[in-house]
Amino acid sequence: MQNVSRRQFLKTTTVAGAAVAFTQLRSDHLWAGEAAAALHAPAPSWVDKPMRWAQLTLVEDDPGKFDLAFWLDYFKRTRSDAVCLSGGGCVAYYPTQVPFHHRSAWLGDRDVLGELISGCRKLGMVVIVRTDPHATYDDVAEAHPDWIAVDAGGAKRRHWASPEMWVTCGLGPYNFEFMTEVKKEIMSRYRVDGIFINRWDGSGMCFCEHCRRNFREASGHELPHTGNPQDPARRAYILWHQERLFDLWRIWDTEVRKINPDSCVIPNTGGGATSSLDMRRIGELAPTLIADRQARRGLAVPWANGKNGKEFRATMGSKPIVGIFSVGAEEPYRWKDSVQSAAEIRLWVADGVANGLRPWFTKFSGVLHDQRWLKPVEDLYRRYARWETYLRNERPLAHVGLVYSQQTAWFHGERSEDHTLGWYQALVEARIPFEMVHDRLLDAAHLDPFKALILPNIAALSDEQCQQLREFVAGGGSLIATHETSLYDEWGVKRNNFGLAGLFGVNYGGKIEARMQNAYLRLEHEATHRHPLLKGLEDAPRIIHGVSRVEVEPREQFPTSPLTLIPSYPDLPMEKVYPRVAKTDIAQVFLREEGKGRVAYFPWDIDRTFWEVLCVDHLKLLRNAVEWATNEEPPVTVTGPGVLDVTVWRQKASMTVHLVNLTNPMMMKGPVRELIPVGEQKVRIRLPNGVRATNVQLLATGKKPRFERIRQELYVTVPAVLDHEIVAIDLV
Ligand SMILES: [Zn+2]
Repeated sequence: MQNVSRRQFLKTTTVAGAAVAFTQLRSDHLWAGEAAAALHAPAPSWVDKPMRWAQLTLVEDDPGKFDLAFWLDYFKRTRSDAVCLSGGGCVAYYPTQVPFHHRSAWLGDRDVLGELISGCRKLGMVVIVRTDPHATYDDVAEAHPDWIAVDAGGAKRRHWASPEMWVTCGLGPYNFEFMTEVKKEIMSRYRVDGIFINRWDGSGMCFCEHCRRNFREASGHELPHTGNPQDPARRAYILWHQERLFDLWRIWDTEVRKINPDSCVIPNTGGGATSSLDMRRIGELAPTLIADRQARRGLAVPWANGKNGKEFRATMGSKPIVGIFSVGAEEPYRWKDSVQSAAEIRLWVADGVANGLRPWFTKFSGVLHDQRWLKPVEDLYRRYARWETYLRNERPLAHVGLVYSQQTAWFHGERSEDHTLGWYQALVEARIPFEMVHDRLLDAAHLDPFKALILPNIAALSDEQCQQLREFVAGGGSLIATHETSLYDEWGVKRNNFGLAGLFGVNYGGKIEARMQNAYLRLEHEATHRHPLLKGLEDAPRIIHGVSRVEVEPREQFPTSPLTLIPSYPDLPMEKVYPRVAKTDIAQVFLREEGKGRVAYFPWDIDRTFWEVLCVDHLKLLRNAVEWATNEEPPVTVTGPGVLDVTVWRQKASMTVHLVNLTNPMMMKGPVRELIPVGEQKVRIRLPNGVRATNVQLLATGKKPRFERIRQELYVTVPAVLDHEIVAIDLV
C-alpha cells in the first residue's frame, strides 16, 4: 500500500541550529510512544496543589492603567491558589533584554510582571507565566523575514485581526530559537513554577522555507495542498506536524527545567477526537494540563465542559486537569470584553467541576469594562474552597467507557464526532455515570474499571486494537458498537470485513446505504419475549430508523432480532406514502453473549441520528443497550425529574455523587438566563466493598439529608437541585 509514512526515515536535518532527528516517522511511531520515553521528566512538586486558578491576561496598555492592588485583592477574595500572568511573546510586560522582544509601549521603566509575581507569591499562590508567540511586528519581519508564516500562495501572512502585525511560523526558528530565549529569560529572572504556552502551535499550515524544507527532508514529500487524509503527503504531514510540536515542547521544557528543575512548560493543547496532537503522548508528557474550552457557543450544550474533563482524563489518568472558563460570550465574533449571565457561568463551571476539572477563570484586560462577573466567580470559588476535601478526587467510579478515536478523526474524517455527541447526550439523559476512553489505551490496565465499552462509529481500528477489544470481552467485558466501527484500519483504509466481525457476529455485506429517507424499525416484542432492549417501548410497534446503515450478513444463527428493518418508502406525493414491505427479517441490532461478556452491534447510525433528531425512542434503545450490556446494578442511580449530569467519585476518605442540573430551556442553545431548580431526587449509591459510611451531607445546601442504609447500598433523598449538588459520603 502507498503508505509512505511506514518508511523508516533516518534523516537528520539542521533546524534552527539544533540537530533534530526524525528517526521514525512511520505508522506505529505515533502510537508507540518511543520518543516520549526520552522526554519524561519528573512532575514539579506543586502540580497537585492548586484547586482554583486565576488568569489575568494583560493587554498592551494595561501597565499604565490597571490597578494591581485590586487584582491581588480579588485573587485573595476568591481563594485562588494559583495564577497565570502574562509575561512575553507578543508583548513583554517586563524590561526584557532579548532582541526583538517587544516591550509594552506603556511599560516605562516598570516591571509589571515582577510586581504581579511578587504580590501573588505573598498570597502563597503557585505562579506560572503566559507567553504567546503567534504574532509579531514589522521590525521582526524585516530583520528575520523567515520567521513569518507563509500562506499556500507563497505570501507572508498579515495578522487577520491586527493587520499591522504578522503571523509567525510555529514550526521554525521564531519558536525554536527566539521564543526559547524569551522563556529562558523569564525563568531566569523570576524562577516561576511554570510557563504556559498559548497559541504556540502555529496558526494553520505554514509554507515558509523552513517548513517546506524540513517536511521534504523528513518525509520525501512536498507540503500537501489537499486536506484528504488518504493523500500520502497529507498523511505524512499529520504526523510530521505533531513531531515538530512535540520537539518544540521538549526543547522548551528542557530549557526551563535547566534553570528551575521544579518547573515545566504547560502547552495549551489537547482535546477530544478532533484535536490534532496525539492525546496519548500528551498524557505521557504533561504533568498537568489545561483544557481550554472557555464557554458555550452556538449549539454547545452545558455538558460540553464536563466532556473536556473526561477526554483529558482518558490519557492523563489521575494527573490534575484544569478547565479554563471565560466570563464572556464565546462566539465567533469574539467579544473578549463581554460578560455572561451569572447563571450561565455557574452552570458551565459546575459541569466541569463535577467531571473532575479544577476551575481556572480567565479575564482579558486588567482594566475592567464590565464588573458583573466578579461576584458570581467569587461566590463559586469560595464555594469550591469550602468543598475542597470532596473535590480532591482520586478516581471516578463509573463502569461505562465511551471510546474516542483521534485516528478515526484524522484519517477517516471528523464525521464520527456526531456519533460520540449522540451517545454523550443519551448517557447524560439516562443518568449513567461514564468515563471516556482513548482508543490507543485499550490495554487491560486502562480498561480494568469498565464493565462496558461503547464504540460510537469508531471506524478506524488497527488489528492490535481489535485484538485488545476481543481480550476485553473474553475477560468478561461488554461492547456496544455502531455503524462502521472497525471497518477501516488505523490509517482509515477500508477493510474487506469488520476487524471485529467475530465479536459482532456479522460480516460486512459490501454496501453502505448512506442516506435513508422515511425508513423504520419494527420492534419484535413477541418474537423476542419482550427483550430488555425494548423496555419503555412496549406500546410501540415501530419507531423511526436512523439515516445511514451498513449492510451486513450474519456469520451465525441469531434468534429473532429485537429490531428489524422496514425499508424506506416514498415520502411524497402523500398518496404514495405507504410501506411497500411491511416486515422483513433483516436485523438492525445484533446481540451476542460470550462468556460473561455481551456484545451489541447496531449496523446503523443510531447515535448520530440521535444527536441530530433527539428522538426519545432512540434514547430508550441507547439506554437499554447500556443496561443490557453492563448487566449489573449500576454504581449509582438517580430517580426524579429533569436532566442531570451524574458523576460519581472516590476521594481519600469519602465518595461523592455530583448532580448537575442541566434542566433549562436554554440547555441546547443560548446562554442560560436563570437557574431553575428540579425537585426531589432519589439517589441509590452502591458503596465500595469493605467500607462503611459514617456521615452523609449535601454540600450545596449544607444539610444532612434523609438516608437509609441497606447492606452495601445507601438511599439518599435530595430535596431539590438548583445548579449543582454533591452528595458527600464520609467512609471508613
Ligand atoms: Zn513555517
